[in-house]
Amino acid sequence: MTSAPVDTKSELSYMSPRPDSPWGTYLGQVDRVTPYLGPLQRWVDILKRPKQALVVNVPIELDNGRFAHFEGYRVQHSLARGPGKGGVRFHPDVTLEEVTALSAWMTVKTAAVNLPYGGAKGGVRVDPRKLSRGELERLTRRYTSAIGKIIGPHTDIPAPDVNTNAQVMAWMMDTYSINTGATATGVVTGKPIHLGGSLGRVKATGRGVFVTGREAARRMGLDLNGARIAIQGFGNVGSVAAELFADAGAKVVAVQDHSGTLYNDGGFDVARLLAANGPDGIAGSGLGESIPDESFWDVRCDILIPAALEGQLSAERARRVSARLVLEGANGPTVPAADDVLAERGVLLVPDVICNAGGVTVSYFEWVQDFSSFFWTEDEINVRLDKILMQALTRIWETADRHRISLRTATYAVAFERILMAHEERGLYP
Ligand code: GLU
Repeated sequence: MTSAPVDTKSELSYMSPRPDSPWGTYLGQVDRVTPYLGPLQRWVDILKRPKQALVVNVPIELDNGRFAHFEGYRVQHSLARGPGKGGVRFHPDVTLEEVTALSAWMTVKTAAVNLPYGGAKGGVRVDPRKLSRGELERLTRRYTSAIGKIIGPHTDIPAPDVNTNAQVMAWMMDTYSINTGATATGVVTGKPIHLGGSLGRVKATGRGVFVTGREAARRMGLDLNGARIAIQGFGNVGSVAAELFADAGAKVVAVQDHSGTLYNDGGFDVARLLAANGPDGIAGSGLGESIPDESFWDVRCDILIPAALEGQLSAERARRVSARLVLEGANGPTVPAADDVLAERGVLLVPDVICNAGGVTVSYFEWVQDFSSFFWTEDEINVRLDKILMQALTRIWETADRHRISLRTATYAVAFERILMAHEERGLYP
């Protein structure tokens, strides 16, 4: 008996299918890996929609006595391999669609490095630079209470992301703990050290960019000593990567952040750049020459590190890039059409879901340490981090060589096999 066609149209119409939108980018990446999934292909549609998405209103009282309302989200894309895991960002451009794409990339990331997690992400559509510290605390606590019913140490564990940090995590941990009546350090990661945080967590993402980038450079015969590096984004990821690459002898020649773009042909004194970097950004530091933002993509360099937001590397910009190696410090910085341009031009790209996985890997260490109430040294953390990333990268590289596919598609192949195997073994229930 043949069954009637099944209508599988989604109600999730907020998600744009435009190929260069975050969700469109993710769907394009899924399409590219599908031919390599063998019989597991029959499960792939489950990863083309989030498991659940919560939209909340976050009203707060401002210092001037007025009320302001912000929209907040927590999206759990997949819980097949373990609890949800992923950061929370505060940014005026946050949308449900963006958070959904970011949650899917977390699913891929945790599976790519084989952490026992699914993928989730949260966000509030707010410009935190316009809030006082008190307003930021009230916003964080109200948002945490609003998503409190779906987060927890065994269900979904938030962490820092764009414009959130250890202090924000401390408020989230405290709010959840007070609301549930028990101190639960394992509900968030990226906490301050004396509240169950982990040594090495702050620098972990930037360190991962360096470790995976150094290995990619070695494999392609690119000497880091004297290599010219351009970095977009000088927050927690870009600044730490800059420091580590400079320590390895590379020259950071261009840096762009929200305040502007600086160029220094001889290479910045990265220590001075770090010291000058405050909430107002790098533009006023007086270091290097100020150039137009768009010229950043034309800078002569060997390694390009997009470490800001999604969708930055368009096909048009990819044609102008002179780097031989692109390291995705940000999540989703490259649109699929730009992937093709880079591949045609022989530029190697280490994708976000492995390149910036150092952060969530040390988040996992933090969570494990919280449960065992036994804390490791920074050296132990870094040794284990480097080992996990190197193992993951080796497996991905072999997969890419075997199928003659990009590192991105190979990473998705490794990750999707793990996720879809979990679905196959667990089965559909109820
Ligand atoms: N926000 C970071 C990321 O995009 C870290 C997430 C985490 O530690 O859970 O990977």
